[in-house]
Amino acid sequence: GPVEPGNGHEFLMIASAPMRSIVVREFGAPSVMQVEESATPAPGAAQVLVRVHAAGVNPVDTYIRSGVYAIKPALPFTPGIDGAGVVEAVGSDVTTWKKGDRVYLFNDNSGTPRTGTYADHMLCGPTQIGRLPGNVSFAQGAAIGVPYGTVYYALLRRAQARPGETILIHGASGGVGIAAVQAARALGMTVIGTAGTERGMGAVEDAGAHVVVNHRTDGYVDAITKATHGRGADVILEMNAHLNLDKDLTLLARQGRLVLIGNRGRIEIDPRAIMAREATVTGMVLFNMPAAEFAWVHAAIGAGLANGTLRPVVNRELPLAEAPAAHDAVLESGAVGKIVLVP
Ligand code: NAP
Repeated sequence: GPVEPGNGHEFLMIASAPMRSIVVREFGAPSVMQVEESATPAPGAAQVLVRVHAAGVNPVDTYIRSGVYAIKPALPFTPGIDGAGVVEAVGSDVTTWKKGDRVYLFNDNSGTPRTGTYADHMLCGPTQIGRLPGNVSFAQGAAIGVPYGTVYYALLRRAQARPGETILIHGASGGVGIAAVQAARALGMTVIGTAGTERGMGAVEDAGAHVVVNHRTDGYVDAITKATHGRGADVILEMNAHLNLDKDLTLLARQGRLVLIGNRGRIEIDPRAIMAREATVTGMVLFNMPAAEFAWVHAAIGAGLANGTLRPVVNRELPLAEAPAAHDAVLESGAVGKIVLVP
């Protein structure tokens, strides 16, 4: 900590408070996440130290913590990809950020090491933060990186979506879904969104969907067909492919494009449905997105946050120590928007 002269002959050491983080020492159940204290690090020459005010909880955080995901960090590690806060210090080579800047955090796949966001401080590279406008809260800032990054890449690169087209967002009330509805609406698409609860349907409508359908009711597939006047959707973003892929293929327009975003199992499909429509079924994984794509994706996000077309929705804020409860909650259905940890 800083050294200040005392009023006598000696110097008084004012030790800075230790940093608090969630640490995972072994893969497993949510309870493997424990709060630990350590010294707050100083940024290296090319690094930024951020005081984290909110950390976003994504479903993928739970897959990584349990050790079943393709990405297995070296132990011990601090979880968390998304977050928001204020720049506390920058290394000597960093010219793009300064102390006091409000920022949101994301992983840009550049390979630059970064620490987890489930902590009151984190280290990252200067291309792994975006400017957080004053009209966006820290909790909202923690709901940006994975959801909005996924949406812009899926929508504009993988689906090649165009203004005037019709899009079905299947699972529109969650972190990714709400982001997708806002982005597609701002692009000038006709937006159909699904949710499983009344509250979820309200959130999808508030986000800007033209048509909202409950995916837990009988006949909802017919309702979607009807909403497209029998043509089908030009683009589908699918959050639960293991449940919906076979149905989705019947909901696509000719030359339609389906992007698989979420999947938790196997499913049987009829390939003829793809043939007949000359449809494209494509997938994406944010961690495989080429690093070169992040600049345009985050330029789009920055513009949308600043002009108010992107308005991240926060479901619940929990203290950092309740990370295990947050991991249980993020896998439950019926939630609306993001779960956020407050260090
Ligand atoms: P989330 O916040 O938990 O949202 C899940 C959404 O799925 C909710 O809208 C939920 O609606 C909906 N849903 C539940 N049952 C459904 C059904 N039978 N049919 C259609 N929708 C249904 O999760 P998220 O953060 O938005 O992520 C969504 C999925 O995408 C997760 O599996 C996540 O792992 C994955 N993901 C993948 C990538 C990637 O790079 N590929 C990136 C981000 C996320 P109700 O609860 O109202 O029913």
